[in-house]
Amino acid sequence: MPGASLLKKPTSEDLDLLSEISQMLTLIDREQLLERVIELTAKAFGAERASLMLNPDVPEDWEQALIKYRRGDGGIERVEQSQSVRFARRVIRDGLAGWVVRERAGVVIADTREDSRWVTFDDSTSSARSVLCVPFQTANAVIGVLTLLHSDPGHFDTSDLQTLTIIANQTTVALHNATLFSRMRYKERQLEAILSAMPDSLIVLDQSGRVLRANHIAAAWLDTTVEALAELSIDDLSRRESLLELVRDVRRNPLQAGQSWSFETHSENRGRDYLLNISVWHSSVDGSGGYVVVIRDITTLRDLNRFKDEMLHIASHDLRSPLALITGYCSLIEFEIPEESPVKEYLGAIEKATHRMQGLLDDLLRVEKIRTSPMEMVEPVHFADLVTSALNQMRPQFDARHQQIEVHVDVESALTIHVNSSMIREAIENYLENANKYTPDGGRISVYSTVEGNRINFVVEDSGIGIPPTALPRVFEAFYRVPRPESDEVVVGRGLGLHLVKAVIERHKGEVWLESEPGAGSRFGFWLPVN
Ligand code: ADP
Repeated sequence: MPGASLLKKPTSEDLDLLSEISQMLTLIDREQLLERVIELTAKAFGAERASLMLNPDVPEDWEQALIKYRRGDGGIERVEQSQSVRFARRVIRDGLAGWVVRERAGVVIADTREDSRWVTFDDSTSSARSVLCVPFQTANAVIGVLTLLHSDPGHFDTSDLQTLTIIANQTTVALHNATLFSRMRYKERQLEAILSAMPDSLIVLDQSGRVLRANHIAAAWLDTTVEALAELSIDDLSRRESLLELVRDVRRNPLQAGQSWSFETHSENRGRDYLLNISVWHSSVDGSGGYVVVIRDITTLRDLNRFKDEMLHIASHDLRSPLALITGYCSLIEFEIPEESPVKEYLGAIEKATHRMQGLLDDLLRVEKIRTSPMEMVEPVHFADLVTSALNQMRPQFDARHQQIEVHVDVESALTIHVNSSMIREAIENYLENANKYTPDGGRISVYSTVEGNRINFVVEDSGIGIPPTALPRVFEAFYRVPRPESDEVVVGRGLGLHLVKAVIERHKGEVWLESEPGAGSRFGFWLPVN
């Protein structure tokens, strides 16, 4: 059936084909769409053979699909990848398809023997005499070439070319949609895989508190299925699990992009500890937003932590008495032996070592006390006064090293806050002592105390040796000291000061932070809530 008749005098068979073609254009399965295109166009134009080469992603490389059609021969055949690539590259380089790609135009060849654009390759088994070949083109590139063949000369004419070009243009749009859809499906599958590989429960809510998405762990945790979860709202969920009331509380605040909250909490009915993380998500594309809730079971971690605290407690208390005994007996022996005895020297070494151990135990006890004791002695103080008195106390140390001190204390930071003043003062002193220790003689140290909203900020900036990026996350750990080259002057310390600062500030519901550049200096800061 020469295709020209399709538009000129449509028979009912032609109309059926037209309706099949328009249905084909709505297909969203890319593979299915490609097979239907080749099958239906071959049928519509009475072609004996057809081929479709396609490369929507890398148009210049033509590495993708080659689908062939042969009438009465079982129809569609998908060519094996390596063979397909070889064929596609060859005809794009030397054959008619290449001409179509370069000219960005379709072509009808009435007789292949009389048209130089038709190239017969040595190994070709084709006996084609007439050819119809059209590009699938987008605004930027040719993404496919469809070729229909017939062994009779003159089988196709220019009106077939026009009709096939219209179909090709429509197919390009459908193909684009199908490609987008398959990419979306791929991304969706990727997301699914990530969500189900997560060891934590995850629930995504929209602005109104409806569940948009949840993973299997969350569903199992709430004793339901992912599908059933998607029907629920956060109010339904918090009725099931009281822990999620925290999310309801957070939602009372206005939604602000970038915000997040973290809660460590214990579930009475489950008898387990959880870390609940709630972050705001926001799309700048359509202004939508909501919350991502991640729930992590931290029972084992907390148990380990309790165990560690107990061990520290036991070690620090139980080692004190034997140490005191050693020191006591050392003094006794010292009395008993003559002045010139070499044993005196040994005793001195023993005393020095026990003294160091005692210092270490004292530090351990201090950390433990800050972390575990109730917040006693909370009193109203002027934060600025604490800063000034700590600075005054440190002044001789700064002077001894000829360090230049700049103080920026804004008026508002004189306001009253309720804290354990000796603890906070210790934290301020610690930052100042470190700036003094780790800044060379003649260096510059700036101290800032400001108020922003309901926070007091305290910052100590120095022009000292700085901290390498790899060590930054660790400096607030207990007993961590930044490894320094041996050539550097050894600064005494046990690596506990910053840990104490962190413990104190966190007990006051504030946060510590740090920025540093090796060789240029450091900025240590903390903020405290104004209560
Ligand atoms: P330490 O007793 O060793 O000073 P800290 O806990 O106070 O213990 O500090 C931990 C480590 O952080 C220090 O060993 C030091 O290497 C680094 N550090 C602290 N403050 C500064 C600073 N202002 N400049 C450079 N390094 C610092």
